[in-house]
Amino acid sequence: MYLYNSASRKKEEFVTHTPNHVEMYTCGPTVYHFAHIGNLRSYIMEDILEKFFLFSGYSVNRVMNITDVGHLSSDADTGEDKMLKGAKREHKSVMDIAKYYTDAFFADCKKLQIKIPKTVKPATGLIDDYIKIISNLLEKGFAYRAGGNVYFDTSKLNEYYIFNNHDEEDLAVGVREGVEEDINKKNKNDFVLWFTKSKFEDQALKWDSPWGVGYPGWHIECSGISMKYNGEYLDIHCGGIDNAFPHHTNEIAQSEAFLGHPWCTHWFHVHHLNTSTGKMSKSKGEFLTVSLLEEKGYDPLVYRFFCLQSHYRKGLVFSWENLDNATTAFNKLINRIAKLKVTEEAVDEAVLAEYKVKFIEVVGNDLNTSMGITLLYDALKAKTNDATKLAILGAYDSVLSLDLLKKAEAKRAENAKLAAKPAAAGGYTIHGEGDPAIDALVMARYEAKKAKNFAEADRIRDELKAQGIEITDVVGGANWKRS
Ligand code: AMP
Ligand code: ZN
Repeated sequence: MYLYNSASRKKEEFVTHTPNHVEMYTCGPTVYHFAHIGNLRSYIMEDILEKFFLFSGYSVNRVMNITDVGHLSSDADTGEDKMLKGAKREHKSVMDIAKYYTDAFFADCKKLQIKIPKTVKPATGLIDDYIKIISNLLEKGFAYRAGGNVYFDTSKLNEYYIFNNHDEEDLAVGVREGVEEDINKKNKNDFVLWFTKSKFEDQALKWDSPWGVGYPGWHIECSGISMKYNGEYLDIHCGGIDNAFPHHTNEIAQSEAFLGHPWCTHWFHVHHLNTSTGKMSKSKGEFLTVSLLEEKGYDPLVYRFFCLQSHYRKGLVFSWENLDNATTAFNKLINRIAKLKVTEEAVDEAVLAEYKVKFIEVVGNDLNTSMGITLLYDALKAKTNDATKLAILGAYDSVLSLDLLKKAEAKRAENAKLAAKPAAAGGYTIHGEGDPAIDALVMARYEAKKAKNFAEADRIRDELKAQGIEITDVVGGANWKRS
């Protein structure tokens, strides 16, 4: 497989430390609010990446954190504590907020068919581990104490800017807003490993440490959790592009200083979901959630399909119109799969194997998911029997996770039910292309109109439209054709 590596700024062959095994780490959500669909774009792409590794024959140990402490909007201790802000907003304790939004995140993942990583750890669970790492960094001279806090000393590194050419402007997307100079820092890029002095007198979560009662900085949690559950050598670290700087840059600094050897070989960053007015962001307050998509009548898997249609290294613009287009394309795809006959025919194993290899080649070129979608259409056109086509689609869907076969089965059942109804009645004649399921829908629309149930009639017309069917009402009946 070839993957773009943010650290080398090149597309590279993906090589793991242990052959055929991937140690994978994902930065998890900060659980002070619902995940927005931008966050979930990152998790969808990371989910596909893990499933693609499994499809390609690797075993995967995937670890993720839940940020339930320490995520300030700036290391200078000027920003707001996001968890505390959430707790105040909802008159709940920080831990209640963390539990509520962690569960909500998992529920969203389920709706989007995102597999929860094998190991998910809240940041608050590993305080002793962070203290050990920080003590070690202090002993080795990579950290210093100032103003009550413990800071990492970036001047002790040979290279600090891993993801850019010593130019923070390059990574402007990642620089957090409202950063104020912290006079305790020896160097501009130094960052807090452990806070004891905080503007937040009422900081809810505090722990004893050799440096006083306080709490860990944001970056140390990912290094600590990964080194504990992935081991000393990490093959791939994932997150949204805004995590590249300073979060991942600082993770590399402290992990390699602690370990004394290179830590993670591959960095995978998902670019942002934007709206017409800019990046979707939780701190802006207004954002779209999976529940909102559902309230508006969208299938969450259509959002997944929408994300897969574009490359993870390009910004993606969300609009309702784009989502409508994805709905139409997704419904057409399901209808085409539903037309395949489920029979006792034998699957042609050679053809199936050939198509699996094709998928690995195509999607394995820097996780090209939109080409993966194109391969679904190729499979539908393959010169083979329907049983083999269904087997190919099922195999592809083990990575894409669009629930294609189940949805097609449901569609088949719905079509069969409709086709069983009498096709014409009361002198109403339908001219179409001889498809009983479509005839039945056109008839149902006529009946709804007759009963003055115009909402239902419109719904059926929309459903037909989504299937690419155009209806023309004529005297005594209707004509339909595929567009
Ligand atoms: P957070 O909950 O803020 O810690 O973010 C969770 C994940 O979502 C991180 O990997 C972020 O980099 C990522 N992320 C944040 N905003 C966006 C966005 N608009 N589009 C895609 N990913 C995002
Ligand atoms: Zn992280």
